[in-house]
Amino acid sequence: MNRHNEMEVSFLSTPENEAFARIVIAAFAVQLSPTMTEITDIKTAVSEAVTNAIVHGYEGTRGMVTMRARIDGTSLALEIADRGKGIPNVPQAMEPFYTTHPEQERSGMGFAVMQTFMDEVEVRSTPGSGTSVCMRKRICPEQAH
Ligand code: ATP
Ligand code: MG
Repeated sequence: MNRHNEMEVSFLSTPENEAFARIVIAAFAVQLSPTMTEITDIKTAVSEAVTNAIVHGYEGTRGMVTMRARIDGTSLALEIADRGKGIPNVPQAMEPFYTTHPEQERSGMGFAVMQTFMDEVEVRSTPGSGTSVCMRKRICPEQAH
């Protein structure tokens, strides 16, 4: 299959836009004929990354979050990027249960959830300039309907 498509959308870091991002990615990913489970996995991973951009990246301030998605054959590549405060130690931040906000009832499981539901998760971050979370998921063509 040589299917190729790309999209990019930017939105303000308000909590309402988490639901917006979930709907947008579902509408885009549907071209791959995913199962309900695959769509739910993708939406969950997007929710976690967008919530992190809003809650941690911009922490009480407002900025723009960009979501890019690309379909290449049977795989969906995603990027969620913010220009917020950045992450000083990415491997530490990605450890399960690591959170800088335990007082806000955060469990530190966002990155673990993304890794569970997507095939690849890569985080690039520069303190002071922002964070980019790239994820990839292969959608099984034999499950397509
Ligand atoms: P949960 O997702 O379970 O509510 P959490 O957001 O703290 O808790 P993770 O999503 O795994 O857990 O993120 C771990 C830590 O990485 C966060 O506590 C935060 O310090 C940092 N972090 C994650 N994303 C960003 C981001 N976009 N900008 C700045 N810091 C981030
Ligand atoms: Mg999180």
